[in-house]
Amino acid sequence: MNQPISIFWFRRDLRLRDNRGLYEALASGNPVLPIFIFDTEILKELPKDDARVTFIFNQLRGIQAEIQKSSGGDLQVYYGEPLQIFSELLGAHSIISVYTNDDYEPYALKRDDSIKNVLNEKGIPFYAFKDQVIFEKNEIVKEDGTPYVVYTPYMKKWKATFRQRPPIHQYDSFSLLKDRILTFKEPQQVTLAQMGFEPSVIQVPPYFLASERIENYEATRDFPAHDGTSRLGPHLRFGTVSVRQILQQALKAENETFWNELIWREFFQQILWHFPHTVYASFKSPYDRIKWRNDEDEFENWKSGKTGFALVDAGMRELNTTGYMHNRVRMLTASFLCKHLLIDWRLGEAYFAEKLLDYELASNVGNWQWASGSGVDAAPYFRIFNPQTQILKFDKELKYIRKWVPEFGTPTYPEPLVDHKLARERCLSTYKAALT
Ligand code: FAD
Repeated sequence: MNQPISIFWFRRDLRLRDNRGLYEALASGNPVLPIFIFDTEILKELPKDDARVTFIFNQLRGIQAEIQKSSGGDLQVYYGEPLQIFSELLGAHSIISVYTNDDYEPYALKRDDSIKNVLNEKGIPFYAFKDQVIFEKNEIVKEDGTPYVVYTPYMKKWKATFRQRPPIHQYDSFSLLKDRILTFKEPQQVTLAQMGFEPSVIQVPPYFLASERIENYEATRDFPAHDGTSRLGPHLRFGTVSVRQILQQALKAENETFWNELIWREFFQQILWHFPHTVYASFKSPYDRIKWRNDEDEFENWKSGKTGFALVDAGMRELNTTGYMHNRVRMLTASFLCKHLLIDWRLGEAYFAEKLLDYELASNVGNWQWASGSGVDAAPYFRIFNPQTQILKFDKELKYIRKWVPEFGTPTYPEPLVDHKLARERCLSTYKAALT
C-alpha cells in the first residue's frame, strides 16, 4: 500500500507564507499532498475570459514554482466536482487526514459537509482552520450571545477582544515545506484552455502596500481620482496575502481608519455566517415588499455607464474596464440603481459579482443591502445621494469623470435617464408604501 499522507486543500488562501491550515498540515509530520480544485460548479457560472480565473491560475503557477524550488514536490491542480475528486484521491492514496482553511459562504459550507461526511465514514478527519479573518463565527457577539447587527458596537468589541489577546500569531508554513511535500513523477495539471477559459486582459495589480499609503489613508481615501486606497481587495479575497500580516502593518502605521475598514470586512463576514439567508432576502424583511420597477433598458444603461449622471457613469466604466471601482463611487452607483431607478439590489449585486476582481459574497451583499436600505446597519432609506453634490464633494475638478467619460460635456454625452428631484420623490413614495 502507498505511504500514509495528509492532504492540504487550497481554496481562498493562495499563498505559502503564514497559511494556518498549510502550517498545521505540515506540522502534523506526515508527507503532505497539496491540492487545488477548479470547481466546475463555480466555473460554469463565469464568463470565459473571467479575470479572477486567470488570476487564480497564475497564482497557482507561482505556488507550484515555489514548492518545486523549496521541496522538489508539487501542487496538484484538478478540474471537476470536489466530491468526485476526493473519491478519486481516496482510491489512489492512503489518506490519513485532510487539512484546509475555513470558508464561511453557504455553498462552501455545504460542499465541505458533504466531503467531511465521506471522509469521516472512512475514519479520516477533516480539519478546517480559521485563516481569512482575525475573528470568526461566534467570537465577537453581544454579552447575551446574540450577533451584532450594528457596526460600531461590533467594532468596539472586536478591538477590546483583540487588545486582550495580542500579539498576532503568524504561522511559518513556508519554512516547513522542505522535506514534507509529497513528490510525484507526473504532477496533475490543468490549463485554462482545458477548462474552456482564456486569459483575461484584465489583471489584478500585484500586492504592494507601502506604509505611507496607510499613513495617508484618511486624507486620500475618499477621492476616486487619487490612487489613495490599499487595493488589497482581491488579495484578501483570494488569500494571496495574510490578513494577519496586513493587520500588523495597519497597527504599525497606527491608522485607526484603515483598521476600521478591515473590521468592516469581518463585520459582514459574521453577518453572512449568522444570517446566510441575506444572500437572497433583505435583512429587514419589509423591504422585500418594495415594488421595484426593474426597467431593463435603464438597467442596461446603468451597466454600460450611460445614465447621463457623470460620476455614476465614470464608476461603471471603471468597473467594466478594470474590474475595480472606488468605494465612494460603489456607494453612489449602488444607491442610484436602487433609489433613482428603483431596480432591485439583487440585480446590482449580481452585476458587481460578475465584474469585481475583489468580489466577495459577504461584503458585496452587505454593502448592497446597506445601499438599498434593507440591510443591517443600513443608510436610512430617506437619505438619497444627490449625484451632483457627490461630484462637488469627491471629484470637484472632474479628474475622475474626464478619465472615464471623455465625452462628458459634449453633445454625444447622454441626457440624464431621470430627473433627480422626481426620482427622489418616486423613491420615497415607493419605499414608504412598502414599509408602512
Ligand atoms: P481600502 O479602502 O484600502 O480598504 C482595505 C480593505 O478593507 C479592503 O480591501 C476590504 O477588504 C476592506 N473594506 C473596506 N471597505 C469595506 C466595506 N465597506 N465593506 C467590507 N470591507 C471593506 N468589498 C469587497 O471586498 N468585495 C466586494 O464584493 C465589495 N462589494 C461592494 C459593493 C458595494 C455596493 C459597496 C458600496 C462596497 C463594496 N465593497 C466590497 C467594499 C469596498 O468598496 C471595497 O472593499 C474597497 O473599495 C476595495 O478597495 P481597497 O482594497 O483599495 O480598499
